[in-house]
Amino acid sequence: MRALLISILTCSTLAHAQEAGPIPAGELAPIRAAVGRIHDDVLTRRETYKTLGDLCRVAPKRLSGSPGAAAAVEWARQTMIKLGLEKVHLEPCVVPHWTRGKVEVLKVLAPAEATGSLKILALGGSVPTPKAGLSAEVIAVTSFEELTRRAAEAKGKIVLFNRPFSATELSTFKGYGGAVGQRVRGASAAAQVGAVAAIVRSMTPNLDDVPHTGGMRYAPGVAKVPTAAVSTRGAERIAAWLKRGPVRLHLRLDCQTHADEKSFNVVGELTGRTLPDQILVVGGHLDAWDVGQGAHDCGAGCAQSMVALATLKRLGLRPRRTIRCVLFMNEENGLAGGRAYAKDHAKELPNHVLALESDRGGFTPRGFTTNANPAATAILRQLAGLLKSGGDRVIPGYGGADISPMKGAGVVQLGYLPDSQRYFDLHHTRIDTFDKVHWRELELGTAAMASVLYGVAELKQTLPRNPKKKAEKKAEKKAEKKQPGDGKAK
Ligand SMILES: [Zn+2]
Repeated sequence: MRALLISILTCSTLAHAQEAGPIPAGELAPIRAAVGRIHDDVLTRRETYKTLGDLCRVAPKRLSGSPGAAAAVEWARQTMIKLGLEKVHLEPCVVPHWTRGKVEVLKVLAPAEATGSLKILALGGSVPTPKAGLSAEVIAVTSFEELTRRAAEAKGKIVLFNRPFSATELSTFKGYGGAVGQRVRGASAAAQVGAVAAIVRSMTPNLDDVPHTGGMRYAPGVAKVPTAAVSTRGAERIAAWLKRGPVRLHLRLDCQTHADEKSFNVVGELTGRTLPDQILVVGGHLDAWDVGQGAHDCGAGCAQSMVALATLKRLGLRPRRTIRCVLFMNEENGLAGGRAYAKDHAKELPNHVLALESDRGGFTPRGFTTNANPAATAILRQLAGLLKSGGDRVIPGYGGADISPMKGAGVVQLGYLPDSQRYFDLHHTRIDTFDKVHWRELELGTAAMASVLYGVAELKQTLPRNPKKKAEKKAEKKAEKKQPGDGKAK
């Protein structure tokens, strides 16, 4: 009993030690109370889960430029109004419009004993094959260096990029980072050595038959060859056949790139109580790949961002500063929304205190990643230390793609970090659907985000900004010279 008591005492001392930091105890206490109320409310109302279910039903297919994306924009606008967000409006951006088409075939022609097709998805932005498809022998490589070394062998062939997603990295995002270059740059690397198409092993540590699509870029001035992702099991089979002899495949894709379309970021806010011109941004991306429902990527982040604000408003927790929810368009194949926001709000960015993105799925909270300076990190750690869910780590890292264009202006970036073990089971696949979302895991993320946002927005002191990048400073000086008196922020 006594041992238990001591250990309980030690635990609570530890908890308070974790909370020690630059925020004085008197200021922290009401924030701690608010964090408790936020968690209770979010976990009983289940509003994030309902909101995400709605999005997956109304606009499951919402790749930029599609009718589904337009439906998602209108849905988000109406939902923000319904949730009580303030100043709800749309901000325009121009997005690419690519469609997958109906035909996606990778047929095995040789070896003779291997019949049938392998599971593929065209990569977003790929050109189609000729109508009748193309047939060629395959060469498999695990790196761009290997491709360069075997350039002569690759001519006229289909290149399979088969570097596995590392299974040993505990963060699956690190595994992703180590493999995704093949998907993004593979087609042009293949074309440069005279190959006729590129197939890339799907971005997942799993061995299964689920292909993962994703973005790719053609290098300027290089011939565009068609490109698709093959399931990891498919890639393994090709590699095994190649050990015994030549492999010949037939690829047919009828995807198409259309004229650019007009689309929108959807914006709403909780206007600050006393410092409304100081702004915190929270968001995810509203677009999603066209094959599943984008439930985890990034419907979860969108629903969490909206409901975080709705919760604070309902609980009467209107903080000093404004919290603005931005649902960005076109993260998956262009980042037009993120760029448009940073550009159109350039004058306001010196008053942007923080940008938080949730784009790693709706799983159990583990913490946040940030590029914050040490003083801001200490504050964020102290606030995250109040979380009841255990998601209290604040570690150095990336904030998010959509908020990254604000980085140069010194806006501190914060990325919501849920458990990453299952994310790449689903990412960019047909199975990223609402039934894969667990309501408690999702809601705990909303509570974590709402708590930290509230804390930063309510602080007496402003979260210390990051130093501006040199390029930003130069551009600002230039603007000041051009328009004297107009370059200064209020
Ligand atoms: Zn995403």
